[in-house]
This record gives sequence, C-alpha cells and structure tokens, in this order.
Amino acid sequence: MLKLTKVNTFYGNIQALKDLSIEINEGEIITLIGANGAGKTTTLMSISGVVPPRSGEITFDGVPIHAMSPEKIVKMGLCQVPEGRRIFPHLSILENLDMGAYLREDKEGVQQDLEYVMDLFPILKERRHQAGGTLSGGEQQMLAISRALMARPRLLLLDEPSLGLAPLIIRQIFDIITRINKESGTTIFLVEQNANLALKSAHRGYVMENGVVTLSDTAENLLANEEVKKAYLGI
Ligand code: ATP
Repeated sequence: MLKLTKVNTFYGNIQALKDLSIEINEGEIITLIGANGAGKTTTLMSISGVVPPRSGEITFDGVPIHAMSPEKIVKMGLCQVPEGRRIFPHLSILENLDMGAYLREDKEGVQQDLEYVMDLFPILKERRHQAGGTLSGGEQQMLAISRALMARPRLLLLDEPSLGLAPLIIRQIFDIITRINKESGTTIFLVEQNANLALKSAHRGYVMENGVVTLSDTAENLLANEEVKKAYLGI
C-alpha cells in the first residue's frame, strides 16, 4: 500500500533520513520505534508531504506521492495525527471534527463518521460544544485522532500518541487504535517511543537509529529480540 524506497530527507545540510526503505501492507498496524531524534517524525513528515525527500521514492497504491502537496496526499486517503496533537483550542469539539472533513463532499458519509468517532470516544459527544482547549491532554489526543478519522483515511499516520499521557489513558488510546484497525480496516503507521506498547499493538515493526532502519521484523520477534529489549524495552 505504502512503499518508501531509499528515501533521503534533509533539513538544510542535516540529513535526517538516510536511504530509508519501509513497506506497509493494507490492513496492517506497523510501528516505527527509535530514540529521540532518530528520525521518526521526519519519516511521517516526508510521507505526508510536509518535508518532502530530496531523493528516493514514496508510493501510495503504486502512485508516486513524494512530490505531491500535503493536501493532495490527504485527498488520496493518507492522514497524519501530528505529535503534540495540535487541535484548534478555540474551536468547539464539533468544529474541530468538521475541520478534519473539510476536503470531503459526501455529507452523509461525514455524518456517519461523526457518529462513529463519538461512539469511539463518548467524552467527545458529551463535550461537543466545548472549546477543544478545555479538554485534558488525553482527551485532546482522542480529538486529534478523531479529527484525522473524519477525513476517512485509508492509512492513518500517528506520531507519538502516548506522549505526555498517563498510563491508563495511553492504554485506552491504544485499545481504540486497535479497534479502528479491526473495525474499519484502516491501515495504521504508528511512531512511538513507548516501544513496549507499540509492539504489543502492531503486526510488524521497524527500528530506527540516526535516520537509518537497523531492524525490521514481526512485532512478536522484535519484542523477543535481545537488542530491542536492552535498548528500547528497558529489560
Ligand atoms: P522525537 O521523538 O524527538 O520527535 P524523532 O525520532 O521523531 O525524535 P526527528 O524529529 O525526525 O526525530 O529528527 C531527526 C533529526 O532531524 C534530528 O537530528 C533532529 O535534530 C533533526 N531535525 C528535526 N527537525 C528539524 C528542523 N526543523 N530543522 C533542523 N533539524 C531538524
């Protein structure tokens, strides 16, 4: 479904991604784990067209997207939930959700999806007229995920959904991520520093260090891998 082939991405002279190759199949949950500064966010930014690669190829359903605008990439069915959530704090929850659907014209589908996300996260329904900024960190993460779902993506890119949240909320959010994948068949690419949880939710994973993929395997094998255990699982 999504294929990155020898992707090289730079910030000025700094090379953040080096010959990065990743493949994601339809229906999978794939996780990319790595330490701070490994290049995980840059990988997502390159896919979504925000920081396009200098060289290499990114295809979505076989169509090259590495030179497309972010808007066009969203229209193709690829949507990112950015790190730090970035909801619109002064807009109501409903308005935030509407923003996620702004490129869509199928009003009926939008209404269905609105009901779906409110079923996933009942707290958003209860507080739908409140400003987004009044929600707790965990609730804002729920809103950010829901807003992305309102674009009805086929591939959802999640950047560190656990960042700064309490363990109970993190578990709830990961349960929902799994549910979204199972119920709607949405393919999920999950970037995480919480390697343990990410690998427990994912089918396969990639490990990244300094802009390079150093390991890729099934999530089960990565969880049992001695190097991964030492470096990322604290075992
Ligand atoms: P984190 O978990 O902290 O978000 P990450 O794995 O997502 O880390 P990136 O944010 O992708 O890592 O950063 C990869 C490298 O690119 C780092 O060396 C970082 O300092 C550098 N970098 C990231 N953004 C910029 C920028 N806007 N300008 C210059 N260098 C940047």
